[in-house]
Amino acid sequence: MIVQAAPIGICILDARTLKAELLNDKFLEIAGKPKEAIIGKWYWEPFAEARAGYEDALNEVVRTGRPYSANETELMLIRHGREEIIFVTFVYAPVPDHEGKVSKVAVWVIENTKQVQERQLQNQLLKARELAEQQQRVYETITSATPDLMYVFDLDYRFTYANSALLAMWGKTWENAIGKNLLENGYEPWHAAMHEREIDQIRITKQPIRGEVAFPHAVLGKRIYDYILNPVLNAQGEVEAIAGTTRDITERKQWEEKLAQSAKELQSINEEMTATNEELAAANEELNLTNEELGLLNDKLRYSNEDIRRLNLRLQESETDFKRLVQLAPVAMMVFRGPDMVIDLVNDAMLEILSKDKSVIGKPLLEGLPEIKGAPAVDMLFEVFNTGKALDGNEAPVPINRDGKTETYYFNFSYRPLFSEGRIIGVMDVAVEVTEQVLARKRLEANEQRLQGILDTMAEGVVIVDPGGKPAYANPMAQRIMGISEDEFRNREYNDEKWKIERLDGSPMPMEEHPMHRVMQTGMPIFDQEIAVVMPSGEKTYISVNAAPLTGNQQEITGAIVSFTDVTNRRLVLQQKEDFISVASHELKTPVTALKASLQLLERMQNDAKPEMSATLITQANRSLNKLTELVDSLLNSNRISQGRFPVHKTTFVIANLVNDCCQHVRNAGVYNIRFEGDTELTVTADEQLIDQVMVNFINNAVKYAPGSHEIIVTAVKEKGATRIAVTDKGPGIAADKVKHIFERYYQAAPGARQFNGLGLGLYISAEIIHKHGGEIGVESTPGNGSTFWFTIPDA
Ligand code: ADP
Repeated sequence: MIVQAAPIGICILDARTLKAELLNDKFLEIAGKPKEAIIGKWYWEPFAEARAGYEDALNEVVRTGRPYSANETELMLIRHGREEIIFVTFVYAPVPDHEGKVSKVAVWVIENTKQVQERQLQNQLLKARELAEQQQRVYETITSATPDLMYVFDLDYRFTYANSALLAMWGKTWENAIGKNLLENGYEPWHAAMHEREIDQIRITKQPIRGEVAFPHAVLGKRIYDYILNPVLNAQGEVEAIAGTTRDITERKQWEEKLAQSAKELQSINEEMTATNEELAAANEELNLTNEELGLLNDKLRYSNEDIRRLNLRLQESETDFKRLVQLAPVAMMVFRGPDMVIDLVNDAMLEILSKDKSVIGKPLLEGLPEIKGAPAVDMLFEVFNTGKALDGNEAPVPINRDGKTETYYFNFSYRPLFSEGRIIGVMDVAVEVTEQVLARKRLEANEQRLQGILDTMAEGVVIVDPGGKPAYANPMAQRIMGISEDEFRNREYNDEKWKIERLDGSPMPMEEHPMHRVMQTGMPIFDQEIAVVMPSGEKTYISVNAAPLTGNQQEITGAIVSFTDVTNRRLVLQQKEDFISVASHELKTPVTALKASLQLLERMQNDAKPEMSATLITQANRSLNKLTELVDSLLNSNRISQGRFPVHKTTFVIANLVNDCCQHVRNAGVYNIRFEGDTELTVTADEQLIDQVMVNFINNAVKYAPGSHEIIVTAVKEKGATRIAVTDKGPGIAADKVKHIFERYYQAAPGARQFNGLGLGLYISAEIIHKHGGEIGVESTPGNGSTFWFTIPDA
């Protein structure tokens, strides 16, 4: 925690009661009192000794909200039971609550005792040095003022310098003394000789010589002297002179004592000074560091102050309100602790989602909610605890037991790791249930799939058009009917010139009649509008179109949906029916008109009838009637046959005989030669009468439609499992596009050609008969090269 780790003493007081609520080890260290003596206590109870000095200041801080700070203040504190004078820098920092009222006071404190002491020591040292310098000056004064005899010899033993003391001792002036030797200046010969020897020695050895000597003083009488002779070296290092000092030791005794004292003092001071100097240097460095540290601390203090303020606010909110917050949160929240994910905190919203009560608190997750075991969301939770990385789940399925039934529900959730002192201690889970949305979407998806399935397989073409008239979708049937791919659809607006749309009468369709155009313009749906689409091959496909607009929220047209069915076949059949009716009425009218004429003549000739004339008319009338009966028969037959209502009586017969018998009328006419090729013994098992009808049909057609070809060849071949019978003519043949319709009811290849009478029923009836036998029927024809109509009869 920040407070605990802070390098400064911190103690948080409640502003109202001045009770210490929070403090750190550093604070205890400075206070020198046990924690329990301070925490929870009125601040001035443990710090009674400081109360008089700072109580008012603290009260002011609470009252005004302005901080109070003291810098390196001397303070008497009872630490560890002992009175101690310490120096501290401290701040009483107000901590306002969210209304700006001082709710806490943070006491920040740093002890400066060491620094202050060091500074005091430094001051002492400075003083000592000053003293020493003063001493030096005194010493110098003393030296210059002493009766020490100071002098300089040249190498010829002559005085080149003598101080006033020496001159006084000699009783001489500078002028008559300098330049003179020892003897000349009144030295006794032994004395002079001694110094001359010494001078010689010094010249050689370059070492000083010290000695003691007694001789009479001019004024003071005989006295004892201490002298020292020093070599004076020139630039070459040679002795060029000897400087001497002679001190009257008689008086020096006391001076010596004083000096010794002084020197000793000096010595000790010097030593101390050196030591202190070193210490000082070290202390200085330390001081510098401490100063820097102090600077940093101050910075930190500022930040920490801010931190603590925020922390405090948060603490206030969090510590006390966190649980309440979680409890009242509108989203489901849950806090897990420990590796077993013990449920530590769970709010009502979460309990409702989980369909659990508060008894799950304190239980490990998988114990409290055993049903969720194995859910990916659980693995993720453990992963967050193990890795410390936050994870979010989206529409995650979670099995939950609600009302005794475990079912899958869906959630969006956030897992956040909870840390304490850098260690993961738990995970917080915030979840939102999205089951409704997910299920709704799934339903939608299923619906869409179903719709897609329907669109893919339906027998109607469906095209969805965008507001610009461009197809956005075309189902497979639409693609099949129009013979273009979905991509081609998408690149072809409804008014594209590539579409060749015609009215039913074959005239080009004007845009205002175009079903898409009508829908897009009027917004009204279209039902069953039949149009013709001319394919690139030139063939026409007829479609019946339904179209409805798609509208947006504002009822604006956002496109259209068009469905259509291929009605080409329907139209063809209809056309054929219409053709048939006109053909049939024409066919019926011819024999009826003839019959009517014959009967009218017979009526007119009733009274004077010539018998041969009557006979001719009656024969004519009969023929017409037969023709009429034949037509009506085939109409009735086709009807019956189309409903499958005809019996099949199978016998085994020789096919060559049937061919022979059936076409007697053609042979009799003498124009056509019918040749049977193949096995004349070949037998088939079938309804002889019905097969005869098919045969007659084929041969009649050959006569009718290949009039110029006089040779009709009939073949009968035994094939595998069946007998194949074919009729070949050398007529004009049939165009390929007509061949496929030729067996259809009412179909006539050239209906306008009135030279051929017929109802377009013959081949249709033939096909029905062969199919009823389980055989196949067909035609091979090359225009200009004749046709071969064939059928097969399966073996019995
Ligand atoms: P119908 O003869 O009464 O018109 P069919 O069903 O017998 O009806 O024949 C259908 C059509 O097939 C005829 O209208 C004719 O155009 C064509 N057709 C039939 N047989 C031949 C053939 N041998 N050669 C050419 N066209 C034929």
